[in-house]
Amino acid sequence: MSVTTSMHAQSVAASDATTARIMQRLGALAADSMEGRRAGTAGSVRARAWIVAELTAMGAKSIGSSYAMPITLRARAGSDTSGANIVARIPGKNSSGPVLVLSAHYDHLGVRNGEIFNGADDDASGCVALLTIAERLLREPPEHDVILAFFDAEESGMVGSKAFVNAPPVPIERIALNINLDMVARQDGKALWVSGTSHTPSLKPIAEVAAKTSAVTIRFGHDTKDLKPGDDWTGSSDHAAFHSKGIPFLYLGVEDHADYHKSGDDADKVDPAFYRGTVEFAYALVRAADAKLSTVMRQAK
Ligand SMILES: [Zn+2]
Repeated sequence: MSVTTSMHAQSVAASDATTARIMQRLGALAADSMEGRRAGTAGSVRARAWIVAELTAMGAKSIGSSYAMPITLRARAGSDTSGANIVARIPGKNSSGPVLVLSAHYDHLGVRNGEIFNGADDDASGCVALLTIAERLLREPPEHDVILAFFDAEESGMVGSKAFVNAPPVPIERIALNINLDMVARQDGKALWVSGTSHTPSLKPIAEVAAKTSAVTIRFGHDTKDLKPGDDWTGSSDHAAFHSKGIPFLYLGVEDHADYHKSGDDADKVDPAFYRGTVEFAYALVRAADAKLSTVMRQAK
């Protein structure tokens, strides 16, 4: 075996281990035992404990005494009125400057008529991507602080992200950018969309740097008012809360698919190679944005 062959074999083996780890985590967070992770339920509490255990094991810091930042949920039959965002911090080399908030939501739709809605794509996929990226940032620190936000109650009106921007863990002026991942695993549309550059054009060249090395097709758009209702994704997920405060955002997501908000949104419908590709793109995007974070300008609101 030549040296080249053996090095190639090694890198393939390493990449397979990474893909396997991503899929294993996706299976865990989207397991039936999480009961669909609906805000205010026992399944939600279990999902939260799982995320906290992952963050603890990798050594991510909490902001304050706990990762959990409690939020108030609207009263609903059979569920608790309190929930929690899970928030962690990856210290940057310069911890006093602008901050990047990397987000995904861990809640989903729960159990309906005896069917568990596992929400593997929506949005266990974003949460697992955050964990993977966080591990790498801890090994190789970013220039700026990166805050990881695992939001609760996105599915019931983006309650978690609204609470976060109304009582942010750092002064809101320091939040230069939100990168929000919601539905990044499903290969049906054969592409990952980057949305938000029409609102903040200076972000486009940054995202294009990351797109250059992407194994999955990256498309830009879904962020202009001329589109038909539903096709402008500006208000579609937790990035909307940041946008409402004038904070630039990049949203990563796939087109709706046959299992969107259905009980069939399971981990075994995910093509591991595609999902691995979107996680790698998200990581490259975080690195590219971190490098240019001081040039990203807030909008006047
Ligand atoms: Zn979602």
